[in-house]
Amino acid sequence: SKFKSGLTKTRNSVASKVNNLVKRYRKVDEEFFEELEDILIGADVGVTTVMDIVERLKDEARTRNIKDTEALREVIAEVLADMLTKSEEETSLKMNENGLTVYLFVGVNGVGKTTTIGKLANRFKNEGKKVLLAAGDTFRAGAIEQLEIWGERAGVDVIKHQEGSDPAAVVFDAVAAAKSRGVDILICDTAGRLQNKVNLMKELEKVKRVISRELPDAPHEVLLALDATTGQNALSQAKTFGEATDVTGIVLTKLDGTAKGGIVFAIRNELDLPVKLVTLGEGIDDIQPFDADAFVYGLFG
Ligand code: GDP
Repeated sequence: SKFKSGLTKTRNSVASKVNNLVKRYRKVDEEFFEELEDILIGADVGVTTVMDIVERLKDEARTRNIKDTEALREVIAEVLADMLTKSEEETSLKMNENGLTVYLFVGVNGVGKTTTIGKLANRFKNEGKKVLLAAGDTFRAGAIEQLEIWGERAGVDVIKHQEGSDPAAVVFDAVAAAKSRGVDILICDTAGRLQNKVNLMKELEKVKRVISRELPDAPHEVLLALDATTGQNALSQAKTFGEATDVTGIVLTKLDGTAKGGIVFAIRNELDLPVKLVTLGEGIDDIQPFDADAFVYGLFG
């Protein structure tokens, strides 16, 4: 139901258009598929992905001998859910069962990285875990303070240095503090300035190296935050970050703010990275583990 309310905008654009289409065309034919393509492209599903979806739908219609659009509507939801489904293991956040788990957050400024870290910290804290945050964005003015505000809201400590200092040093200290305090989960923020891409990517690599050196197998996840409202831009950001660091999962933010939630399908299909978390509002509780069925049901149900 969180998905359902958070996805109102996308639902209104996609589902109601599909429903209209089904009413207007009784018979499944080429024109029906063409209009369906337009609706999905309009929802930012992405051309390549739309072609894949429609191809699969045509296959299903053929093999199951579906001639009537009403019957095909069920199959549309099925195909979309299937397209998003990764195994449970792939979509849930990896955890270190024997001690400290470290998550590294990366992403462009403004996508909602800090907010998401705060929400996630709060969630783990409520599950009874001991959480620590690392203020690894030492570049953007105000970033450290903003993370501290979220730390206060969630009731977790923040390890920080001064603005302009070396983020790798912050993260080094944070891992040491996490170990000595018996922390379960350390979440590291990082800078998101893309104006100087090469420097940023070097910085992220260094941060990651420091974490791995201090704790084998860490970071357990490198989570790339992408803003759903930026549509196809999010895909190109993912490609940029993916070239520089081993991103292990996507956090898709601001799904409540867009009618183009179809971007989820493009991300899953074109990047082959699992969407692990989605955020659906500015409040501390507006974060959800990604669940393909709930998502598609939220769109069409
Ligand atoms: P950062 O620069 O990536 O750290 O981005 P911030 O965490 O500062 O967020 C940028 C803006 O997006 C803030 O105004 C947030 O309140 C807003 N925001 C973050 N997540 C969400 C979300 O899920 N939904 C909506 N509607 N706004 C969000």
